[in-house]
Order: sequence, then C-alpha cells, then structure tokens
Amino acid sequence: MRSLRLRLIVGSLLVLAAVILSFDVFTYAAKRRALLEALDGRLFAATQAASRHLEIESGKPVFDPAEENGARPPLPPVFRIIDEKGGTLGQSPGPVSFSWPASTAGDPNPRGTTIRSGRGETWRVATWTERLETDAGTAEKNAVHSDASVGLVIQCAESLSATARELRELASLLALVSLAAFLIAGGGSFWLAGRALRPILRINAALEEVSETRLDRRLDASSFDVELHPLITRLNAALDRLDKGFQRERQFTADASHELRTPLAALLNSIEVLLRRPRTEAELVEAHRDNEKTARSMQAVVEGLLLLARMDAGKAGPAKESVAPADLIEDIFASIGREAGAAGIRLAHSVDPSLRVQADPHQLRLALLNLIDNAVRYNRPGGLVSVEARRTGERTIIEVRDTGLGIPPDHLPRIFERFYRVDPSRAEATGGCGLGLSIVRKIIEGHGGRVSVFSGPDGSIFTIVLPDA
Ligand code: ADP
Repeated sequence: MRSLRLRLIVGSLLVLAAVILSFDVFTYAAKRRALLEALDGRLFAATQAASRHLEIESGKPVFDPAEENGARPPLPPVFRIIDEKGGTLGQSPGPVSFSWPASTAGDPNPRGTTIRSGRGETWRVATWTERLETDAGTAEKNAVHSDASVGLVIQCAESLSATARELRELASLLALVSLAAFLIAGGGSFWLAGRALRPILRINAALEEVSETRLDRRLDASSFDVELHPLITRLNAALDRLDKGFQRERQFTADASHELRTPLAALLNSIEVLLRRPRTEAELVEAHRDNEKTARSMQAVVEGLLLLARMDAGKAGPAKESVAPADLIEDIFASIGREAGAAGIRLAHSVDPSLRVQADPHQLRLALLNLIDNAVRYNRPGGLVSVEARRTGERTIIEVRDTGLGIPPDHLPRIFERFYRVDPSRAEATGGCGLGLSIVRKIIEGHGGRVSVFSGPDGSIFTIVLPDA
C-alpha cells in the first residue's frame, strides 16, 4: 500500500543522506589533500636542508653531516642522497623499513609519492634532484646545467601514520556527526510529514461528518493553510453541487409522486363511484372518456419521466443527421392544426425549406412540438403562433413566438425546471404536466445548443440556438 507519509520521510532522508555523504566525502578528500600538501611542503623543505650539507671537494660532491654551529640547517630524520649512478653519498642513521623509490637526477617530481613498507606502514617520500657545479672547486649549487656539473638526488621520507591517524579521527568524527544529523533529520522529517498530513486528516474528518443528511455543512477555509484554500474551495463547490443534486432528486421524486398521485386518486374515485350502482350506457361512455383523459395525462407524465431518465443516463444521445426544420414545423402544424383552429389561433412560419441543421430528427421534432404546443395552449383566443429560423455564422437560430399573456418575470428563471408551472390550475386545464420545457432544454443541450426565453405582456419568444456540428 502506498503511504504518503512513508514516501515523504524516505524521500527527505534519501536527499539528506546524499547531501551528508557528499559533504563527508568532500571534507575528507579536502583534509587529506591539505595534510599531504603540508607534509610534501615539509619534506621538500627537508630536501633543501639536506642539500645545504653538500660540498664539492676536488671536483666531487661530498656530504658533510656537520651543522657547523648552526651555519647549516639540521638534517631531516629520514633521508638519503644518491648520485647519478645510484651510489649513496649520505643518509640518515638507522635502517628504513621501506625501499626508496627509484629516481634519477633530473626527474621532475614536484609532488611526494606514497609507498608501502614491508610491514604495511605507509611513507611519504619527496624526491629532489639537484645539479652541483664541480668546476673551480665551487660548492655553489646551480640549477643551470653545465658540462662541469654533477646530478644528485635528495630524498626525504616521513611516515604517514600521523596523517592516517588524523584522517581516521576525522572519518570517525564525520561518521558520528553524520549519524547524529541523520537521526535528528529523520525524527524531524517524521514530525514534519505528520504535520504536513494533518490538514488532510482534518479535511477527512470534516468530510466524514458530511453525510447525506448533513450536506449543508461546509469546510472553513480560513482554518486551513493558504496552500489548501483552492482545494477547500473546490471541495465546498463539490459539496454544493452534491447538496443541490440531492435536493433536486428529492424534489423530483416528491413532484413525480405528487403528479401521479392526483390523477390516480381521481381515477380510483371515478371507478368507485361508477361501481356503486348500475349505469346506463351513456353514463358509462362519459365516465370512460373522463378516465381515458386522466390515464392519458398519467401516461404523458410517465413517458416524459422515462424520456428524461433515459437522456439523463445518456442512453438517448442524439443520432444526428441533416434535418430540414421547415419539414418538422410543417409536420407539427399539421398535427396540432385542429386544436389551434378550435381556439382561433393562427399558425405561421417563414422558415427557408432549404435550411438544414445537424440534429436527431425525432428529438428536434419533440422539442419544437413542445414549444409550439405551449405557444398554442398559453395563447389568447384568436392569437398567432409564428416560427422563424435563420443561420448566423456557424449556428442556426429557431424562434417560436406567441401572442399570449406571457410569463411573469419572477417565474422565468424556473420554467425550465421539471414539473414547474406558472399557474398549476391553468396548466391542468390546458393538460400540461410541467415536463415539456425541461425535455426541450435536455434535448437542445444534448445537441450542444441552448434554449432561452424572452417574455412580455404581449407574448413570449422561445429561442433555440443549435451549433453546426
Ligand atoms: P406544461 O406541460 O405545464 O406546459 P412546460 O414545461 O411545457 O409544462 O411549461 C412550464 C410552464 O411554463 C407552463 O406550465 C406555463 O405556465 C409556462 N409556459 C410555457 N410556455 C409558455 C408560453 N408560450 N406562454 C406562457 N407560458 C408558458
């Protein structure tokens, strides 16, 4: 299982380990270099001191260990001076436990060399080459090579044990300090990881409290760090949407039950009354007519709900094809012409027959039917219903106008909601179930378009905007 806390701790410790290790390696290497450089400096100075003990006697180099009352510097503890042929001119008393590195005069070797003795000790050896002028009995040393000169090699050595001890001590100190730093930082990162995760645990606890029944609760952003404010804002927005969704769902279920309960009660009542005593044929026909009307209104509600549910679930996505709105409008006019004619309402359209839109023909017909049907039902007797369509840019605009009483402004924002009616008693009289406009909106939005309404005391205009694709 992935653990954020563990990853934070391991990640920070890995970075820390890398930093500490690089620091240790660098410090150790720098110290070692400095120690060796200091040692080499001492050793080369010692070779210089030893060279001051050289003289030329009868044209030959001679080593004189005497200090001559301080006129010559003291000799180093371990050294040797050899000539070009390897013959020893002088050396420190006592044997050495290592073998001197071979070197011939003239070898440029500005740095010391490390050698290992047979006993496993390490020594540092500085090798200095020197030419001595042999002519005219001069004992002056001269770096300029001349024929009358002799090449000598002066080597001085010092055991590296002190340096090694110092480096070992440094390594132990570094290891100790590094371990302590690592442990302190480990504890620190454990604590920090806990602190960093604390707001998440708090958010989690707060969200746990928000159940379906307490969806109105919101997280207080001010009690969290500023970096978490966008997350809190988004969570609160999601809770808002969830809350509204649940409220809508509850409202919808209540409305749907109510819509069906009223006609169902009326139907049962009518059947009960009908069954109380024997009826004449005329009475039976009339009762059946009433009942059929009630059953049809219930059917309209159920079908509307089913359609909306299918569209909600995305099962009835539009199967788009090229459709001529003029054909659909003509067809709708033909189907509701009788009802409109009975109310003295005129139907007219000025839609170019060649105008085509990309839409699901059944869904677009249903949307237009609902709008035109409303325009007839909520019109004044003798009024007019007109439909217009035009293309602007990459959109098609279809307008359904009526000359009815219009919709009061305070109702306008809600008329596309399911089961919403401006005047329920009037809607009942006109046979509406309050689902027509929500179906229209669902269909048009399913096509990527939008539907809007403009309404005044002289009538309403419903506008559908459909995009090309
Ligand atoms: P209904 O089936 O009740 O007509 P709709 O969803 O189609 O349901 O319409 C919702 C409400 O909007 C209607 O009850 C009505 O009050 C109002 N309405 C819709 N269209 C018009 C219109 N053209 N003129 C006036 N009011 C309208």
